[in-house]
Amino acid sequence: MARRLSLFGATGSVGQSTLDLVRRDGEAWQVGVLTANSDVAELARLALEFRPDLVVIADESRYGELQQALAGTNIGVAAGAEALVEAATYPTDLVLAAIVGTAGLAPTMAALEAGRNVALANKESLVSAGELMIAAAHKSGATILPIDSEHNAIFQCLAGGRLDQVRRIILTASGGPFRTMSAADMARVTPAQAVAHPNWSMGAKISVDSATMMNKGLELIEAHHLFPVGLDRIEILVHPQSVIHSLVEYVDCSTLAQLGSPDMRIPIASALAWPQRMVTPCAPLDLATIARLDFEAPDETRFPATALCRAAIAEGGARPAQLNAANEVAVAAFLAGRIPFPAIVDTVRNVIDAAAPAVPTSLQDIFSVDAASRLAAQHLVEQYEHA
Ligand code: NAD
Ligand code: MG
Repeated sequence: MARRLSLFGATGSVGQSTLDLVRRDGEAWQVGVLTANSDVAELARLALEFRPDLVVIADESRYGELQQALAGTNIGVAAGAEALVEAATYPTDLVLAAIVGTAGLAPTMAALEAGRNVALANKESLVSAGELMIAAAHKSGATILPIDSEHNAIFQCLAGGRLDQVRRIILTASGGPFRTMSAADMARVTPAQAVAHPNWSMGAKISVDSATMMNKGLELIEAHHLFPVGLDRIEILVHPQSVIHSLVEYVDCSTLAQLGSPDMRIPIASALAWPQRMVTPCAPLDLATIARLDFEAPDETRFPATALCRAAIAEGGARPAQLNAANEVAVAAFLAGRIPFPAIVDTVRNVIDAAAPAVPTSLQDIFSVDAASRLAAQHLVEQYEHA
C-alpha cells in the first residue's frame, strides 16, 4: 500500500529533491499535503502533478491566486500561518519538514505533538526549540528522522549501537567556499560568491551559513539534541570533499562512517524509506576516481561561528534561539547587500552579548525570544548601513 506524505517547503531545494524521489517511485507514495511560502505558480504546478488532498500557501495574500489556479480540481486550498499548523496534523504517515528558518517551527511542533513521524531538514526549528521538540516527540511517540546529511549519517552509524557506548561523534564540514581564504579577502566577498558552494546545491540561506561555518555550528546544536552523548563528545572535522558525511566512534575505538555522493536525495531517501531502503537515481561512489579524502581541523579564528554556537548551547536556555534568530536576519541582510560578510557573525555575537539570559518553557516563550532577537539584529544591521 502507498505511504502518505506531507511535504512542508515543497518548492525549496530539499522539497524538490524529495519530490524527485517520489516522482520516480509513484507506486510507493501518495502525497497528502504540499506547502510553500509565496510561489503560487510552482505550488500549483506541483499540486496538479502530485494531486495532494491539501495545499497551503503561507502568504495569505496569495490565497485567491492559488484557489484560482486549482479551480475545478478536488484539491483543498488553504493559506496562512494557522492553516500551516493545522495541515501539520493532517493524517499522513510522514511529515517532511523542509521549510527554512524558524518559520518551520510551529508546524513541525504540531506534527510531533500529534504523533506524526517527522523527517527533519528544518534544522533552525531544532536549534531554537530543541528541548521542546524532543520532549514533544517523547510524549507522543513520534520519531524524528534526520535529513541533514551529517545527522542522517550519524543516525545510520548509530543503528544497532547505544549512545552510552559512543566515545565521540565527529561532524564533518566541507569548509564552504571560503575555506582557504584570508580574513581580509573574506571582508569583500559578494552574496554570489557566498552561495556558490563547492560540493552541494542548496537554498540561499543554508549556502551562506555554510560559507560562515554557522551551518556547522547550528548542526552541532542539532546533533546535541538528536544524539545526547554530551557536548564535549561532539567534534567538528573539516573534510573538503564531502564524501564522509559524519562518523561515530565507539568506546572500543571502532569508528563507523557513512559515505555517499554529495546529493541530498541520498539522506532524504534514507529517511523516506526508513527502516527499509529504497532505490535512488543517485551516482554511486567511485572511490578510485575520488582517490583521496582530506581532513583538517577547523580554523575557529577565521570562522568564529562554530565556537559561538558551542558556547550558546553550553549555556542553553534562550541562547540558541537568540543566536538563530539573529543569524536569520543577518544572513538576509547580507544577501540583500546591506552588510558585509564578516558582519553576519559579528551581528549574531553582538545580539547574544546584549540579550538577557532566559529559560523558555513554551513555544510562545521561544517566539518572544525570537522576535526580540530579530529586532535587535535589525537594529545592528541599520547601524552598519549608516556607519
Ligand atoms: P529553500 O530556500 O530552497 O526552500 C525553503 C522552503 O521553505 C520553500 O519551499 C519556501 O517556500 C518555504 N518557506 C520559506 N519561508 C517560509 C515561511 N515564512 N513560511 C512557510 N514556508 C516558507 O531552502 P532549502 O535549502 O530547501 O532548506 C530547507 C531546510 O533544510 C533548511 O532548514 C535547511 O537548513 C535544511 N537543509 C537543507 C539542505 C539542502 O541541501 N538544501 C541540506 C541540509 C539541510
Ligand atoms: Mg548538513
